[in-house]
Amino acid sequence: MTIISAIAAMIPYMDSTMLILIPGILLAAWAQSKVTSTYQQFSRVGNQRGLTGAQVARYILDNSGLNNITIEPIRGQLTDHYDPKGKVLRLSEGVYGSQSVAALGIASHEVGHAIQDATNYGPMRLRGAIVPLAAIGGNLSMVLVLAGLFLGGTGLVQIGAFLFLFTVLFQLVTLPVEFDASKRALRILDTGILTPTEVEGAKRVLNAAALTYVAAAVTGILSFLRILLLSRRRD
Ligand SMILES: [Zn+2]
Repeated sequence: MTIISAIAAMIPYMDSTMLILIPGILLAAWAQSKVTSTYQQFSRVGNQRGLTGAQVARYILDNSGLNNITIEPIRGQLTDHYDPKGKVLRLSEGVYGSQSVAALGIASHEVGHAIQDATNYGPMRLRGAIVPLAAIGGNLSMVLVLAGLFLGGTGLVQIGAFLFLFTVLFQLVTLPVEFDASKRALRILDTGILTPTEVEGAKRVLNAAALTYVAAAVTGILSFLRILLLSRRRD
């Protein structure tokens, strides 16, 4: 569930409890502008060794004994991701063939996810287990909450709130997964692939990206608090 859809889901029921969401909305907007500006800035800074995102990803994967993982280009901007089922690393147009510090940071971050997968990193496994519940929670919780509010059924609101907890839990477990992938990426890039100044640039890009996940988690927690406030009103 994206931040936008979380906000959109809350809009049908407008009232004063909406105000509790404002810090989350502002944080999300700030994080988004930060990630866009930092990405643009370091997309224009090339690395001294002239390596592309795909080359660096291949190099790190092979050095980690992950020769079985393939790398594919994918359309769009910042659409980069690691697919644990297919064992495929998909790098966006601006990363795959780019020699920018931003591209190398992002490519290495995705390799970080591949390494997490290969080493059975606990939070990643936990997140994988929560995905189906979070998807159900994301789709059904607001329907139940709204139905409960309109029909006056506190039980429905409580079930909705309970289901929404899985969405919040998913967003919280995402944080260590993302922070760890970036930490691994920067550690590897700092072994001589990038210069210390270039590593600093990659770090700024990855930190900005991490901020969007923090904003999503904060928005999720605030949405949950709002559901609690709405359900109390009906008591
Ligand atoms: Zn990631």
